[in-house]
Amino acid sequence: MAEPVPVVLVEDDPHIADLVDLYLRDAGFKVFQATTGEQGLEYIATRRPRLVILDLGLPGEIDGLEVCRQLRAKGDLPVVILTARDGEIDRVVGLELGADDYVTKPFSPRELVARVRAVLRRADGPSRPSSVLTAGAIEVDVDRREVRAAGTPVALTAREFDLLRHLAEHPGLVLTRQQLLDAVWGPGWVGDERTVDVHVRQLRRKLGEALALTTVWGVGYRLG
Ligand code: CA
Repeated sequence: MAEPVPVVLVEDDPHIADLVDLYLRDAGFKVFQATTGEQGLEYIATRRPRLVILDLGLPGEIDGLEVCRQLRAKGDLPVVILTARDGEIDRVVGLELGADDYVTKPFSPRELVARVRAVLRRADGPSRPSSVLTAGAIEVDVDRREVRAAGTPVALTAREFDLLRHLAEHPGLVLTRQQLLDAVWGPGWVGDERTVDVHVRQLRRKLGEALALTTVWGVGYRLG
């Protein structure tokens, strides 16, 4: 059997907490029950849950929205909010604070389990598009415009980055110098095809053996 998936449940109503616990345990989760925001944050820090189920109305200094706010300040641990308050404002505030889903009391525990599973699938799944291209030991982080060679960050000029990115977007394909010029320098660019060679030389110098770039004589270049 698979390891139970750890979840922290922050809920001050013991009847609701036990009911949710029962259904989640049945569904393959291990539930750490907290009754206050303070205890919730402590369990989240110490029990390493994969997801947090959070009641909004909690006794004590820290309510559910504050817990959510603190979690979002630290990272993207999935949060499902649970609340008796069916106010539109709570819903909007909760989602703005980065909660992944919302269940309003009274709710069916089965529905909650289904939502928890869906949130975890979204958080884990390949559906979240990765902005990192890899080519052998080279990683190209498109959004951050960062490149790592065998795990080490390497500083590239904007043009070198765009050239590497274009090659990494077409792994295994031979790209001609003209194709690379059109894609990276733009179709309106006027100049020598050897410009590409100069930039390739720079990439090879900076990235070293991590760069599996092949020169196809008389044609162009192929990455991977
Ligand atoms: Ca409550």
